[in-house]
Amino acid sequence: MDAIIKNFPAPEGVDDRPSQKEAEDAVRVLLRWAGEDPEREGLRDTPARVAKSYRELFAGYDLAAEDVLGRTFEEVAGYDEMVLVKDIPFFSHCEHHMVPIIGRAHVAYLPQGRVLGLSKIARVVDIYGRRLQTQESMTAQIATAIDETLRPRGVAVMIEAEHLCMAMRGVQKQGSTTLTTTFTGAFKTDAAEQARFMTFLRAQR
Ligand SMILES: [Zn+2]
Repeated sequence: MDAIIKNFPAPEGVDDRPSQKEAEDAVRVLLRWAGEDPEREGLRDTPARVAKSYRELFAGYDLAAEDVLGRTFEEVAGYDEMVLVKDIPFFSHCEHHMVPIIGRAHVAYLPQGRVLGLSKIARVVDIYGRRLQTQESMTAQIATAIDETLRPRGVAVMIEAEHLCMAMRGVQKQGSTTLTTTFTGAFKTDAAEQARFMTFLRAQR
């Protein structure tokens, strides 16, 4: 749990960044390490492109979930039933190999007088996706972020993802999906709420 809290809102040390030039040089080293010639025609602009795409793929380090979630919420009188956003697609990278993780997140919460704009949940998933991750941490981080800012009665997060590091290297298990869940509040303490979340997820599949 320590690592998760440290990653919320953003990991420390992100200001200590190398220059664009240093990043490009590092890519050249990796190209040579792979057996390539970084000076050949087709690769000449690759280091600059990789450095630029890293900015986008890892943009989550520059963003904090609480900035997206905000501190003001829509007040809703009377609605305290589960809100579920299903099938939020995301891309991430595993922190062990820096290889893509492709998946979908399902996020539910039980409102306590106030609700989130639905697009905000997808943006939180995106922020944590655009960092180096383990699927377990990402699942817990999304739940913690919503729990701590919105303070609902409970949060449930399920992530289904394929880890390309498993598909492309080593054991080469293509198409296998890893499933992780985190429950807080009533989703954790009340088996009926948890069962309802699972039932909602299975509906229309
Ligand atoms: Zn990996």
